[in-house]
Amino acid sequence: MQRIVKNWQSSQEIIEIRRNKHRRLCQAITLIGSIILMFFSFLSLTKALNFLSISLLTCGTLGFINTYYLFKAENIELFIMNINVVLTLLCYVLVVTGGIDGTGILWVYPIVAIIIFINPLKIGIKFTSAIIIVSAVILLSPLLKHIPADYSNLEIIRFLMSLVALKIMCAVEVSSEEKAYGMLIKLHDNDVHKLIFYDSLTGLSNRVSLEYNLDKLLIEKNTSQVIALLFIDLDNFKLVNDNYGHEVGDKLLHDFALRLKEIVRPFDLIANNLEEDIKKDDAARLAGDEFVIVLNDLKDKKEAGVVADRILKIFDGGYEMDGETFPVFASIGIAVSPDDTIDPKEMIQFADAAMYEAKRKGNNNHEFFNQNIANSLHQKLNIEVGLKKAVQADAFNLVYLPIFDCINEELAGVEALIRCTEPELKYYGPDSYIPIAESIGLIKKIDKWVIENSIKEFREVQQVTGFKGKLNINISGTELLDTDFVSYLIKLFEDNQFPISDVDIEIIETSLVPENQVVINNLNELKKAGFSLALDDFGTGYTSFNQLIMYPATSLKIDRSFINDLFTKDEEGKRTVQIIHNLAKNYDLKIVAEGVENIQQVEYLKSIGCDYLQGYYFSPPVSKQDLIHLIEKMHDKKELLNSSNA
Ligand code: C2E
Ligand code: CA
Ligand code: CA
Repeated sequence: MQRIVKNWQSSQEIIEIRRNKHRRLCQAITLIGSIILMFFSFLSLTKALNFLSISLLTCGTLGFINTYYLFKAENIELFIMNINVVLTLLCYVLVVTGGIDGTGILWVYPIVAIIIFINPLKIGIKFTSAIIIVSAVILLSPLLKHIPADYSNLEIIRFLMSLVALKIMCAVEVSSEEKAYGMLIKLHDNDVHKLIFYDSLTGLSNRVSLEYNLDKLLIEKNTSQVIALLFIDLDNFKLVNDNYGHEVGDKLLHDFALRLKEIVRPFDLIANNLEEDIKKDDAARLAGDEFVIVLNDLKDKKEAGVVADRILKIFDGGYEMDGETFPVFASIGIAVSPDDTIDPKEMIQFADAAMYEAKRKGNNNHEFFNQNIANSLHQKLNIEVGLKKAVQADAFNLVYLPIFDCINEELAGVEALIRCTEPELKYYGPDSYIPIAESIGLIKKIDKWVIENSIKEFREVQQVTGFKGKLNINISGTELLDTDFVSYLIKLFEDNQFPISDVDIEIIETSLVPENQVVINNLNELKKAGFSLALDDFGTGYTSFNQLIMYPATSLKIDRSFINDLFTKDEEGKRTVQIIHNLAKNYDLKIVAEGVENIQQVEYLKSIGCDYLQGYYFSPPVSKQDLIHLIEKMHDKKELLNSSNA
């Protein structure tokens, strides 16, 4: 942690800026000084002051060499030391020779000032002290008689006293500047410190500081101590952002953070000193609408449940702020140490998993981590590992689910469905691993693989069979939140030279974020580019009538759960299908029924005027080769029918 602060680049940047200024100052001083020295060297020569002339010439030449290296080299400290030596020698020469017309010692003053200003205080003091002491020794001892210069006692005293006064004045100035600079760096580091350890919106700890505290807490705790971590996620928070704007959303998060603080009374560890004792309880915001609190030193894990209930009470009937009630609720997952784990990262992970379980139970619930959650978490981690391997090795293949025209039962298209050949994922279908691929950021690669391979294989099917139907491709809804998605997709089709008009893009209804402008723009762009859009698993989400008009879809795919319920749940199943059917007709959308498994369903769907059917009654998903056989068989059947009709 401390390393993060120490290595923090910004304070290094301030130091670097100061260093560069310093370098430029030294360059200017040495260059100008060297030119002046050359001039005076020439002047001394004309006045037959040979020793002075040679000394000035030497110092000037050294000055020029030094200027050159100051421009070229990285290590400026060494060259500043050279300047110090040259200037000190110069002072002695001026004191000893008296300079031109006895004005030499007047030049010692600016030189002393320069030495103090271009050096760190301590070094400046050392050099100027050396100048004063050596000058005093020369001028106040019998040596005075042996030097060319001629000074009166008054001049000597005035010179030495002025030098001491000048040194003190300059040193005071430099020391206060250094203090101010030190303060600036400290303040800056404090700011950086806050940035690193605190969430800027709520003032709560952030993930870094939470992990740090938890780490220390778990290492230093004694065996009887129970520590609980509550992972809080707000439900429907997205709706606040979408419907009321981000400002209101931010305000709500800030407001909730204040209420959380009241509940757990966190005390500040990090703001003061990283090495201080561990704080009692901690409240943190991890990201977006995810909060965590750590309860230290509980007697029983039940106490964590009591605190969770106290937090959930805030959301009873919605979240109240400024006299308004927002339909925002919370789900809380709880992990306990040492029962569940003693590892800080696992503690967060387990509480997070328990939170998802609480969410599944509905709004305003809390759930303790348990064996079932542990099992599904284990499964999720296995899938993650398998997915990473599969993506690396391209261990996927495709099957095709035929889509039939409801009127003539002819093959109207096929839906490409992904299959994974990675052994770890052998027992899982895309329903299990696609959402995980979305959550760990692998979906883009998978979608790309599906698009490239499905159009390649579909083209082969077209070439062998002359098939004229459509290819349906499933795309993850998360892509729609990416502003570059459509241009990327269009390019992918262009690169593969596949006509966009042959494709139906399927997007799951639940992944559409209502009234999200990026999503709507993307959908419009897709339509503009010529893609047909199918809203997949329709009926499982919350698309309302007025939202439907915003989505430029061409078809609705009735989720197979509704088809399944057609004849199992009395009239209810039929009613749902009828409602979706009416909705589609009102908005001039085609209807596809998914998961059709028996003739009863087929007849009913035909009777209400459904457009397309897919399901095991007609065909399960088949390989490319089987699809070719199927199309050929259907061709033959059609020809046979035509010839028998003729
Ligand atoms: P989906 O888009 O609704 O795909 C239809 C699913 O229903 C397929 O499951 C299919 O095998 C299954 N199915 C079709 N007819 C019947 C039937 O009569 N009865 C039953 N019980 N099931 C039937 P699958 O292949 O396991 O796919 C599951 C989901 O995974 C898909 O649902 C889709 O949401 C997603 N998915 C599949 N392939 C891809 C893909 O390439 N990319 C993306 N992003 N998602 C995919
Ligand atoms: Ca689909
Ligand atoms: Ca579907």
